[in-house]
Amino acid sequence: MITVRCPSCQAEVRGPESIVGKRVRCKRDDCRNVFVFEPPPPPPPAPVDDPWEREASALASSSYEDEFDDDESFDELPSPLPKRKKKKTAETSEQRYPLLNKYLEWCRSFAQIVLVLYLIGAAITVLGGIAVLLFSDAPSDTRLASVAFAICVGTGAAIVGYIVYVVLMASIQFVHVIIDIEKNTRRLAGKAE
Ligand SMILES: [Zn+2]
Repeated sequence: MITVRCPSCQAEVRGPESIVGKRVRCKRDDCRNVFVFEPPPPPPPAPVDDPWEREASALASSSYEDEFDDDESFDELPSPLPKRKKKKTAETSEQRYPLLNKYLEWCRSFAQIVLVLYLIGAAITVLGGIAVLLFSDAPSDTRLASVAFAICVGTGAAIVGYIVYVVLMASIQFVHVIIDIEKNTRRLAGKAE
């Protein structure tokens, strides 16, 4: 049996060792203070020389003994709820498929490079055709034919480049859609458990 003092009214409260660390309520009707049942640290042994003081301290320590001589001098309260464990954060697709994400990154860069090269090629072809039209000594029929050819090839190259770019980007997005579906499936499966 352990005895502590109510921090509010200083009444002695007794309880078994199993109650240490738990929240209790003082049973005195005029107090009802809620506190943690913890035994006080052992007081330093102070030599009391004065017999009057010794008598007074003995009286003080026993003044509430009679009121609280039963063992149930407290109401046990439910201890506060334990902290909820932090939910494990969902794994991102980057963590789950690092190589696949690397590959998709490369594909995206490759698609952009392809688009730029096709556009540069188209621009050079068209500019070449215009140069032939302006500076060539060839007959005008030939020059017109060659500039028309250059514009057709250049436009064709730009269109093909754009189509290749769109197809590559669409396939990248398609893989992302599959990853999202897979992620949602896992999430729903986790919820169902
Ligand atoms: Zn009290």
